[in-house]
Amino acid sequence: MRKLPLLLILISCSAGWAQVDLSYYFTTPTQFNPAIPTPQSVVGHQVGEWHITHDRLVNYMMALDKASDRITLEVIGQTHEARPLLLLTVTSPKNHQNLESIRAQHALLSDPQKSGSLDLQNMPAVFYIGHSIHGNEASGANAALLTAYYLAAAQGPEIEKYLANTIILFDPSFNPDGLQRFSSWVNARKSMLVNADPNDVEHNEAWPGGRFNHYWFDLNRDWLVAQHPESQARVKKFHAWKPNVLTDHHEMGTNATFFFQPGVPSRMHPLTPEKNLELTKKIGAYHAKALDEIGSLYYTQEGYDDFYYGKGSTFPDVQGAIGILFEQASSRGHAQESVNGILRFPFTIRNQFTTALSTLKAVNEMRVELLEYQRGFYTAASAEAVKDPVKAIVVNAPKDKMKLFHFGEMLARQQIAFYKPSGTQTVSAKNGESESGYMIPLNQPQYRLIKSVFEKRTQFKDSLFYDISSWTLPLAFGIDYEELKVLPALGEKVTELKAPEGKMIGKGDYAYVIEPFGYYVPRATYRLLSKNVRVKVATESFYADGKKFERGSLLISVDHQERLPDQLQVFMKEITEKDGLDVYALSTGLDFQGVSLGSPSFLSLKKPEIAMLVESGISATDAGEIWHVLDTRYQMPVTLLPISVFNTANLNRYTTLIIPEGNYNAISESAKEKLKTWIQNGGVVIGFENAVQWFQSNGLGKFETKKEEEKKEQRAKTYADIDENRGAQETSGAIFEADADLTNPLLYGFSSSKIALFKPNNIFMTKAGGAYANPLTFGNNPLLSGYISKPNYTRLKNSSCVGIAAMGRGRVIGFTENLSFRAFWYGTNKMMMNAIFFGPLLSSEASR
Ligand SMILES: [Zn+2]
Repeated sequence: MRKLPLLLILISCSAGWAQVDLSYYFTTPTQFNPAIPTPQSVVGHQVGEWHITHDRLVNYMMALDKASDRITLEVIGQTHEARPLLLLTVTSPKNHQNLESIRAQHALLSDPQKSGSLDLQNMPAVFYIGHSIHGNEASGANAALLTAYYLAAAQGPEIEKYLANTIILFDPSFNPDGLQRFSSWVNARKSMLVNADPNDVEHNEAWPGGRFNHYWFDLNRDWLVAQHPESQARVKKFHAWKPNVLTDHHEMGTNATFFFQPGVPSRMHPLTPEKNLELTKKIGAYHAKALDEIGSLYYTQEGYDDFYYGKGSTFPDVQGAIGILFEQASSRGHAQESVNGILRFPFTIRNQFTTALSTLKAVNEMRVELLEYQRGFYTAASAEAVKDPVKAIVVNAPKDKMKLFHFGEMLARQQIAFYKPSGTQTVSAKNGESESGYMIPLNQPQYRLIKSVFEKRTQFKDSLFYDISSWTLPLAFGIDYEELKVLPALGEKVTELKAPEGKMIGKGDYAYVIEPFGYYVPRATYRLLSKNVRVKVATESFYADGKKFERGSLLISVDHQERLPDQLQVFMKEITEKDGLDVYALSTGLDFQGVSLGSPSFLSLKKPEIAMLVESGISATDAGEIWHVLDTRYQMPVTLLPISVFNTANLNRYTTLIIPEGNYNAISESAKEKLKTWIQNGGVVIGFENAVQWFQSNGLGKFETKKEEEKKEQRAKTYADIDENRGAQETSGAIFEADADLTNPLLYGFSSSKIALFKPNNIFMTKAGGAYANPLTFGNNPLLSGYISKPNYTRLKNSSCVGIAAMGRGRVIGFTENLSFRAFWYGTNKMMMNAIFFGPLLSSEASR
């Protein structure tokens, strides 16, 4: 029967706040231990009265840790903005005494060699609860106050039983920097008389909003590749414990209700077992019952999906656990008008709290079933691995050890075991230099995860994707890989990864040369230029000491420098140590096979001064990816230039302007004219995706794109199919192979003329007429992995992915694709860097 908790809401009229007390949330009568502090007694306000700030949330969790013998708190890491990442372990005091042995036993469930003898009847289940990975979906983190209080303070046989049979890993805030940004916004704009008008400033966050982390990344896409400190700390704990259930509390649009998984069954990843869906449904029945009791509307099996393993609710599904997404309609502030009446913040918090408890109940009542499922998952995976004709995968990047190292970091983070083949071993002709690569045997616990990151998939049950349709990681990294049908002898297991160092080769004191292939060549280039060292780039190949140096190699002559030879030598040493690059010290400039070192084919580089447009229509995630790669990887300063400032700013201090994906309606007409003049005088503009179309429509070069085909008379379809057909035309993210002219400076440093590109859009640029104007194009059959509709694929074929326009002394360079996608697309970062360093040198004959 439905209870009537509404009567318990206390409206405190004098202050005008729509305020509630704890009885609003705890709808079942519960005894609480008075020795445990309530949230209000620590944070200074009632739950839901103000948005919890991250620092107050931390204070409360610390207070609980101090007061309760059910809780231990760990700081497992730090965000980019130096906020602590917390993890509370909540269980009975008795389990706390044996925590390490419980953990070790539990971890054996994923080891088919040892899991058979485990006593599941007497083993606790592990339940990971996570909140508000999108910082402006705050009801989760605010509900964390209630759930943590309940777990610490509730009395009685039910909670005692739950704590005895469950290890709860509790993260009050997956994204502290985003939560802090959002809570500051809404709290600072809250009126005494709470304003529910959606137009009120409280409900309209400024760019980039609180959803993202410091570098404007969506952390709920980072679980698999874990490029950020928040994910790295969390994923480490995930693997240490291997939870049975992981919940992920989110928010959605204000007019929605409440969603819990399963998602759309036809959109589940094929590597996830059907049994996962069955168990998710069974757990879903607990949420339904709990929400029925408090009268909240909800839905399930619609809209969201479990395809991309980089999301928090899907990542567990490929590792023997059940991931559950919760989505609560957002008040995005303290109250907001909605089609369902005024949506108040406390109401949203209560639904999150209620489903945290319904999951706890489900985990307990289904404990043995969940443990058996996890054990069975790994046993079945091992059996599949035995049957798999592929026994191992070898990966290598002979010309770029650093990229391979970063790939190895990612494998290690996901507990994928890999080996260094022994020195004399040759695994295949293609990977001749195999001793520098990694060998990944498939028969290991993470078999299914390995399959998911190496597979190429072009067939799909459904044509709708909540997120990207492919993420083949060796393609993203641009490294070689090969499947082996016979398992070779495994070399040494890699247990400790160390960034490779380069070496000084030769003892000459005439000139230094650096090959163009290493990942950190742009960082070395910038460091030298910022120390006033003259650096030239080779636009022809040349030979020295019998070795061929390709175009794009850097030349630093010892003479003709402001710096003394000794200082130069220190800088070169630094490059070998920090950037992992080999530096060749040559004793002569003579070359009769190629060009000599004094040749005019070597062009001088200038230190770039970079600005990037942000705010007012710019895509925050796209801008954030570029900021992140420049700031953290290449260590190159970039001015984040708001469009409103750009409109009036003097651009003369910049050499390079980056325009990320977005819309550019906020750019004023006078700013466009100013931009043209700046380009005429030698400025370089680099634009991505939609920027290419903006160039075309604003007279910044000819960047024509293919129009959608005229709709012919169509076969009649039902009205009900509208959404599905529209969705099927989206290219949500797939991988295509482009053909590259490696002699074009934009492609220097690539060793193969076949380059995998990530495409997240339906922008298809026509090939230009000029003979040199299409350095990177898609051919007739470019799909490597992922989903694209037939009409879009037709347009993609034989299109161009980059265009150059010469305007006076300046250049406009437009890339149709994202070259820095989610920080894990290492393979194409260098194209953007080449545009930055070599853009000013591009011949006008390569113009479109
Ligand atoms: Zn979300």
